[in-house]
Amino acid sequence: MSAPIAAFTRHEATVAPIPLVLDSPHSGEHYPDDFDHVPPRALVRQAEDSHVARLYASAPQIGAVLIEANFPRAYIDANRSLADIDTALLADEWAGPIAPSRKTEQGIGLIWRVARGGTPMYARKLTATEVQQRIDRWYLPYHAALQMELDARHRQFGAVWHVNCHSMPARGDTFADDPGRERADFVLGDRDGTTTEPEFTALVAEVVRGRGYTVAINDPYKGVELVRKHGRPADGRHSLQIEIKRTLYMNEATLEPTAGYSKLAADLEHLLRAVRAHVARRIGLAT
Ligand SMILES: [Zn+2]
Repeated sequence: MSAPIAAFTRHEATVAPIPLVLDSPHSGEHYPDDFDHVPPRALVRQAEDSHVARLYASAPQIGAVLIEANFPRAYIDANRSLADIDTALLADEWAGPIAPSRKTEQGIGLIWRVARGGTPMYARKLTATEVQQRIDRWYLPYHAALQMELDARHRQFGAVWHVNCHSMPARGDTFADDPGRERADFVLGDRDGTTTEPEFTALVAEVVRGRGYTVAINDPYKGVELVRKHGRPADGRHSLQIEIKRTLYMNEATLEPTAGYSKLAADLEHLLRAVRAHVARRIGLAT
């Protein structure tokens, strides 16, 4: 028997660590055997932020740690709250708290009810037990790993910066908040300035614009559970969501990287070096 797949992969810093933690919650590609989705795999995979963890592969070389989810977002979404339960999908009672968000109304809560475009994900309802198993086996270990990294660096350096890494379709589909609209190349989300010091968002925007990309802030994505949970700027915990337009680096239908992939990866390395310099300056570390 092959070894069980871990919920996450931790890419440790290869140089002296700095208080910078990246996480990629949506780029997992390991589809569990019991994920009996109805739409073809190619459509279900449209939910993934394909290649995102690989695009930030330079993070360890600047002293950051990168936590990468190995499970697919359509199976259980690490960027949702545990209360974001869609009761329409459940065959029986849910014992825990239920607080469905706007995402659940759109069919993309903790467990996705629909694939991209609105096709139903399942031909059946799920039992509360199997939802709980997904939480225990995948969601909780991922959250624990990220929390541990952030806490360890915060303890060591007195502050920590968190980049929550995503990618987005070039246009919102019918069910998005911005149907049909072409998005900016990068969308930065700090939940309207509440999850980080404003200088961090401004720095990332400036560096990315300097590489020739268009940038929007909190439009249409403000950041969801992971930046909400970890961003407490008053405590020196800064959390920023970065969404990258998928057409910059891949074919959205086939998920194949395009010619733009290497340029984007190089630009992200440049960005991470600028973030490193910012972080070092803020904590008084020599660079
Ligand atoms: Zn994402």
